[in-house]
Formats: sequence, C-alpha cells, structure tokens
Amino acid sequence: MRIIFATGNAGKMREIRDILADVDADVYSLKDLGLKSEAEETGETFAENAVIKVREIYDILSPKGEMKDTLIMADDSGLCIDCMGGAPGVHSARFMGHDTDYKIKNAAILDAMKAVPEEKRGAAFVCHIAAIDENGRIWNAEDEMRGSISHEPKGKEGFGYDPIFYLPEMGCTSGELSEEEKNRISHRGKVLRIMKGILYKDGIIQLKV
Ligand code: IMP
Repeated sequence: MRIIFATGNAGKMREIRDILADVDADVYSLKDLGLKSEAEETGETFAENAVIKVREIYDILSPKGEMKDTLIMADDSGLCIDCMGGAPGVHSARFMGHDTDYKIKNAAILDAMKAVPEEKRGAAFVCHIAAIDENGRIWNAEDEMRGSISHEPKGKEGFGYDPIFYLPEMGCTSGELSEEEKNRISHRGKVLRIMKGILYKDGIIQLKV
C-alpha cells in the first residue's frame, strides 16, 4: 500500500518517514507526487483543519481512481498558551501575519507575558493527525507536548515558536534540541505513533516482518 502525507514541509516529512519506517507501505509527500495543497485552513479546531487537508487530496485522487490501496494523512498543529486562553492555537501560522518573522512573533508573545509568573506560563504544542482511506473512512488522533513559555528566546534549532517553548524535563527550549532529540518527544511524533497503533489495530496497515 502507499501512504501519502499531505505536507509540503521537508522537516515534518523526515520525522514522518522515520516513524513510519516499520510500516509495510511506501510513504510519499505531496511533492513526491507533484501535488500541492491549496486548502484554506478555515476550521475552528486542529481536527477540522487536518480533515480539510486530507479531504482536499482525496477529492483530487478519488475521481481519477487513484485511491486504491492508498491512505492519505495530514496534520494540523499549533502553540496553545494557557494564560492566553489557548491562543494562538489554530491560528499559530497566521498569528501577526503569515509572513511575519518568528523573531517578531516570539518577541511579541514574550512582551505580552512579561508580567506573567512562572506557574501561569504553561503552554502546549498540540498536533492532530487525520487519515482517510480509499472508501472515505476517516480516523483522527490528537496529542500534545507540554512545556511553558520561556522569558527569552533560546536556540537556533527547530522552527516557529521553538525558541520560546521551554521543556522543564529537558532543561532547555525545543529550539535548543537537535532534530533527533525533538522528534523523540514531539507532539507530531506522539500522535503519529498513536495513529499508527489505531490503523494497525483496525487492520488498515501492516508492519514489516
Ligand atoms: P501547520 O500544522 O503546518 O499548519 O503549522 C502550524 C504552526 O504551528 C506552525 O507554522 C508553527 O507556527 C506552529 N508550530 C507547530 N508545531 C511547531 C513546532 O514543533 N515548533 C514550533 N512551532 C510549531
């Protein structure tokens, strides 16, 4: 079978291929197949947006009869800050404008939170993954990586909000972790492992022997 992961992000794709390496399937990105996602993330929840993304690709492939033995997956993720009522949440990529440098976005968050005490700085990176099979059946899974918002940006690894996301158990921000270290604990990795378990239990995927 083949699994298409509907993302254009090369870093995400490396993590996804690594986690799906023991699945008996060929894993493709959209780029591998010459496809591009143009879906607007209009959902109110991570789940709705992940489903919008898988449906978009399903609606391209299914009418052409190209869904046989194919599973499409997509993720939607974001940073949810407790004292901001879960913002920026589903709007994480668009927060302060899609093309605004994350140095500016991160500085604005730190500034808005400068009077917030340690115990109220809790936050989570949340990730939702949706999968759709050839019959249009949909599976969902969601999980998070908890941490807190730091007082200053640190680290040059990762992307987005990583420099201000402090992981107490690691004693550093996720922006200070190597790609390998972050993949081991990341929200995306956790959910993809959960999704793999669900799909295996339902007999949709097999593991390599
Ligand atoms: P999407 O899931 O690709 O739509 O991206 C959501 C947005 O959430 C990204 O553009 C980042 O702003 C933020 N985000 C999601 N996961 C991470 C992460 O692991 N590190 C830093 N920022 C993240």
